[in-house]
Amino acid sequence: MIFEVLTLFPEIIQNYCDVSIMKRARESGIFDVKTINPRDFTLDKHKKVDDTPYGGGAGMVLAPQPYIDAYDSITKAENSITVMLSPQGEPLNENLVIELAKYNQIIMLCGHYEGYDERIREIIQPREISIGDFVLTGGELPALCLIDAVSRKIEGTLGKIESAEEDSFTNGLLEYPQYTKPRDFRGYKVPEILLNGNHKEINEFRFQQQLERTKKRRPDLYQKYIDNNK
Ligand code: SAM
Repeated sequence: MIFEVLTLFPEIIQNYCDVSIMKRARESGIFDVKTINPRDFTLDKHKKVDDTPYGGGAGMVLAPQPYIDAYDSITKAENSITVMLSPQGEPLNENLVIELAKYNQIIMLCGHYEGYDERIREIIQPREISIGDFVLTGGELPALCLIDAVSRKIEGTLGKIESAEEDSFTNGLLEYPQYTKPRDFRGYKVPEILLNGNHKEINEFRFQQQLERTKKRRPDLYQKYIDNNK
């Protein structure tokens, strides 16, 4: 898997991908993350990537030429998808993450300022993805969310110790509460049942906790789970 990120701020992507689990996985060759800066593809001496909007209005619009030329410079793999990070896209969720993890190459377009000249969409025809109904200043954090979430689905990224098997959403429910040492912290005690070594009882307790927690916090997910498991 290779993630190729078109961004005006490559250091944001590189810094995040150069620590912890991401760093280890990249060094092991499980996936790689490359950045391409549209600014390197500008044709004028000021390296201008944006301009004022036709029709007036606030902010600066990302010009098509540097983005399209940067995009065209990428060698497309056979099993490749192009994603545009945009608040106008389909929401990123666990199913979409699983779907994206099946590609060998994910090319990502990060916007900035007021966003993209519409012709970038028309020419590239990317799949537009949003990380939520709010607006950030740039597409770098959304791209990192996507890289991080997708990379966790690639075999080998997580060591045994960081297994995702019981993470929230994996079985359609939120995860059960977790505890570590000490047994008693400021009078807040670890539930007795987790200490008795009976794994059947522990699993049942955790499952009940998952159900309760999901019902309380995410009634939409809970209902879906109940409907799917009738
Ligand atoms: N004017 C644009 C609009 O209303 O749709 C928003 C532009 S936003 C300030 C700049 C860039 O940040 C976007 O082009 C996109 O790449 C990124 N961005 C902001 N919010 C996002 C979100 N919720 N999901 C994905 N990308 C987002």
